Parts: sequence; C-alpha cells; structure tokens
Amino acid sequence: MKRTILIHPDPRLKKVCAPVADITDDLRKLADDMLETMYDAPGIGLAAPQVGVLDRLIVLDCVKEEGEAPRPLVMFNPEVVAASDETNVYEEGCLSIPEHYAEVTRPKVVEVAWMDRDGNARRETFDGLWSTCVQHEIDHLNGKLFIDYLKPLKRQMITRKMQKLKRERARL
Ligand SMILES: [Zn+2]
Repeated sequence: MKRTILIHPDPRLKKVCAPVADITDDLRKLADDMLETMYDAPGIGLAAPQVGVLDRLIVLDCVKEEGEAPRPLVMFNPEVVAASDETNVYEEGCLSIPEHYAEVTRPKVVEVAWMDRDGNARRETFDGLWSTCVQHEIDHLNGKLFIDYLKPLKRQMITRKMQKLKRERARL
C-alpha cells in the first residue's frame, strides 16, 4: 500500500526517531509500503519519518541502469560505523522537498551496520551514489534534511517555496 510522503516543512521531519527493538509484522509491512512508495515516486531512498512514522527504518535502491536487477535494501537501526576522509559531492534531492536539488559534500565511502527485515545483523561498505543515499536517509532519522547543509539564505528560499507548494496543494 502506497503511503503519503510528508512535504517539508513538517515537525515530524525534524524529530530524532526511536530505535526499533523488535521487528514486528507491522514493521515489515511498513517497510514493504515504503519500498512501494519509493519506487512509485520514483526515488532511490525513503526514511520512515517521511511517511510520518518516527522509527529508525530506511529503505533504498540505487540501481539506476535500465535492465539491471533491482536491489531493495531494508535497514532497521542503520548506523554509520566508519567513514572515509575522502569526500564526494552529489547533487541531492529529496522526496519531501520535490523539485529542488543542491550539491552536498559527504564522506565518499561509509561502512554501515543495520538489522535486516529478519532481524539479522548486517554490515556493508557503500561507495558512490549508494554511500550518499544511505547517509541522506540516516540523516532523516536524526531530523536532518539535505538543505540543512546549505547556506541559511538558500535553505530559507527553498523552505518558502515548499510552504507555497503546500498551500497550493491544500487548496486542491
Ligand atoms: Zn530525503
């Protein structure tokens, strides 16, 4: 079932999310819904607070090549355990901030630990777009958006445009 994606500014996008203790069927269903919502958008990552659930859960799939098999990843309690000194700049966007993009500098390579949908501890090293995406999604769990990396003026400009977009959508 597709869920509604919250649009910035929204207080739920600024909250620190709670760790998941037990992976229940409800949480697995939420993860499935989030993947469906993400693919439909379309996007390459989605965090639970973006659908209004304040649990530490993200989903991502950065496979972009046509014809290449999808690789949906579901991560409960994801954590960056190591990061490279070398950085990378990507033009980032966000499903909660539609149609705005900006360059963000982040560590190029990160090692991430998480719990998969069956409760198994997993650990993997990510590079390139996967690395940027997983860091962007983990930021969401700490109430942080990619525009928080921008200069205040740029951030305020985008926020005002989002407020206007939300007013327009509310009138429909
Ligand atoms: Zn985002």
